[in-house]
Amino acid sequence: MSNPSLIIETSKLRHNVKTVVKMCKASGIEICAVTKACCAHHKIAEVFAESGAGMLADSRVQNLKQLSSYSVPKMMLRLPMISEADDVVRYCDVSLNSELNTVKALSEAVVKLNKQHGVVIMIELGDLREGIPPEEALTFAEEAIKLPGVNLTGVGVNFNCYGGVIPDEENLNRLADVASNIEEKLGIKLQIISGGNSGSLYLLKENKMPAKINNLRLGESILLGMDTSFQKQIEDLYTDVFTLKAEVIEMKEKPSVPSGNIGLNAFGQKTSYVDNGVIRRVILACGRQDLPCDQLIPNEDGVKYLGSSSDHMILDITQSDKDYAVGDIVTFNLSYGALVGAFTSRYIDKIFI
Ligand SMILES: *Cc1c(COP(=O)(O)O)cnc(C)c1O
Repeated sequence: MSNPSLIIETSKLRHNVKTVVKMCKASGIEICAVTKACCAHHKIAEVFAESGAGMLADSRVQNLKQLSSYSVPKMMLRLPMISEADDVVRYCDVSLNSELNTVKALSEAVVKLNKQHGVVIMIELGDLREGIPPEEALTFAEEAIKLPGVNLTGVGVNFNCYGGVIPDEENLNRLADVASNIEEKLGIKLQIISGGNSGSLYLLKENKMPAKINNLRLGESILLGMDTSFQKQIEDLYTDVFTLKAEVIEMKEKPSVPSGNIGLNAFGQKTSYVDNGVIRRVILACGRQDLPCDQLIPNEDGVKYLGSSSDHMILDITQSDKDYAVGDIVTFNLSYGALVGAFTSRYIDKIFI
C-alpha cells in the first residue's frame, strides 16, 4: 500500500445502496446509481449493480463505456455533445436531453448503428442548469417522437446544482403535470419520470414525493450518506464508506504567523493568519494535486486544517492529545469534492476492503 490512499469499505457501500433502494422501492421509485464521483470505478459499479440499482448513470461517455460489461441499462446524465452522439448510442441505453438538434444527431446514430436509444426530456423548473421550459415540453416531445430510432422514454428535472434550488412537492408536481400532459396528448406512456438527484430523497421520508415520480438519480446520498438539500446525514446510512489516509513527513513546533514580507501563496492568493503563538504543526505528503485538501474532514480530535500547496498539507495539532511523529498516518472523512478529487487523482491508491 502506498500513501496517500483511499480506503473503501464495500460492505458499508452495499448497505447504503440496499437501504436506499428499499426505501425508494416502497414508493414505487427505481434508482439510477450515479458512478461519476468515482470515475465509474468497476468495483463501485459492481456494488451498485448487485445491490438493486435499476440503472447505472454517469456524466461521461468514457465512464459509461467502462461499464459495458454490466447488464443493467446505462444512463447518460450530462446532455450529450453532438460530436459524441455515436458513442452515446453505442454505450448508453438512455440519455437526458434538452436540445432537439442533439436528439436528431442521436437519431441518426441510432439508425446508422442499428441500435435502440431512449430520450428523457429535461425540464427547467428553477435551478437553471439544463432543461427546457415546461410549456415547451409537449412540442419537443412531438418533434422527438417523429425522429426514427429514438424512443421518448420520459421526462426529468435537476435541482440542487447551479441555483441550489431545493426540490419540493410544488416543483415536482409541475414535472408530474408535464408528464401527464405529454402522455394524454400523445397517447403514450412515459417509462421514466425522474424527480432529481440525492436532494430529492428527503421527500420520501416526509411522505411528500408526488406519486407520479418513479425514478431518482442518486450519487452523493448512497456514496456519502448525505442529504444534499439540507447537508445532513441520512438516517441509517454510513457517512464513512471512504477514508483518506495521509502520512506525516514533518512534525515541528513553529509560529502560527509567517515572518517576512508577505506576498501571495503557491496559488496566487493573498492569505491571512491568526496569531496563536507557537503551535504544533504537522506536514502531510498529500496536496492539492491529489485532492481539494480543504474539503477533507479530520477524523481525529484536535486536528485543524491550516492550508495546502500542490503536494503538502499543513495541520495544526496543538489541541490534540496525540503525539504525531514522522511516519504516522492521519485519517480523514471525505466531502463530495474531496471524493471526486481522490478518485480522479492517479496519485491516490484506491484500496477496497
Ligand atoms: C451528478 C448528477 C446526479 C447525481 O447527483 P447526486 O447529488 O450525486 O445524487 C443526478 N443527475 C444529474 C443530471 C447529474 O449530473
